[in-house]
Amino acid sequence: MKERVLSGMQSSGKLHLGNLVGALSNWVRLQDTYDCYYFIADWHALTTGYADTSAIKESTRDILINFLAAGLDPEKCTLFIQSRIPEHAELHLLLSMITPLGWLERVPTYKEKQQELKERDLSTYGFLGYPLLQTADIIIYRAKYVPVGIDQVPHLEISREVARRFNYLYKEIFPEPEPLLTEFPKVVGTDGRKMSKSYDNAIYLSDSPVVVEQKIRTMVTDPARVKKSDPGNPELSPVYQLHKIFSSKEEIERVADGCRTAGIGCIECKKILIKNVFGVMEPIWSKRQELLDSPDTLNEIVEQGTEKAKKIARETMHLVREAIGFFS
Ligand code: SF4
Repeated sequence: MKERVLSGMQSSGKLHLGNLVGALSNWVRLQDTYDCYYFIADWHALTTGYADTSAIKESTRDILINFLAAGLDPEKCTLFIQSRIPEHAELHLLLSMITPLGWLERVPTYKEKQQELKERDLSTYGFLGYPLLQTADIIIYRAKYVPVGIDQVPHLEISREVARRFNYLYKEIFPEPEPLLTEFPKVVGTDGRKMSKSYDNAIYLSDSPVVVEQKIRTMVTDPARVKKSDPGNPELSPVYQLHKIFSSKEEIERVADGCRTAGIGCIECKKILIKNVFGVMEPIWSKRQELLDSPDTLNEIVEQGTEKAKKIARETMHLVREAIGFFS
């Protein structure tokens, strides 16, 4: 029996190269070794975006297409949509009965995000209870691992605490989910900051080749290189940061050396990056097109994945109801 891994992505926008390198490529690797459940967290999109839900459906569809285009294989892993499995909500409700308010208020991102999104009213239970819904998402599948970067380990702690509390109060049902640590390279956006849709600096998996080329051609470089004859420092250039992820060792050396000695111009340097980013994106573009052309395949994949996930969620909820002592 393979150990179970669970992870999800919120359906609040398009996926970009940062999501591909930071999460999806890792998920693709894990599907060969673990019993992986990957889902699209469309309810989670409401925690901060409840006032405008017009893009959720399209975003969910696009993320699913990107999951598959990036290499997730429904024969190897289970792909599903959160809102199609109401058992998550039932478990969330039951967990809300046993979770002290202070645990939720102490989650570091609670206050940080409220500050970050000051223009939205986030004084809702849904926003406060977000980590609890996340806990329900994980433990309902009795998953052993959740793939996370080192900075997200504290976020998993509340899920472990809640699982422990349930087990202590009622019955040992839930394994405490453990982090499956992964080193993710930091992906910078076209302006040198972390690639993020909120900074408007992202290269999206759904961008056309023309758009990707344009975005890279206009990327920020080392500001010291005004003319081609000015030597630069590649470490100060976001273009070089992306070379380190997408280019070969020889190309990285050539670019770094050429930048320092003014032996290569930024246009040529960016051309090499464009070629290598295209190399990664071309199979994704063609698979995306294939899926866009056959919506029935997409629906079938969701149906199958949802059925499989539902089976486990139902089994767990049966155990949970029995453990708490409901009339059945
Ligand atoms: S040569 Fe390349 S690494 Fe150097 S500043 Fe220009 S774009 Fe950036």
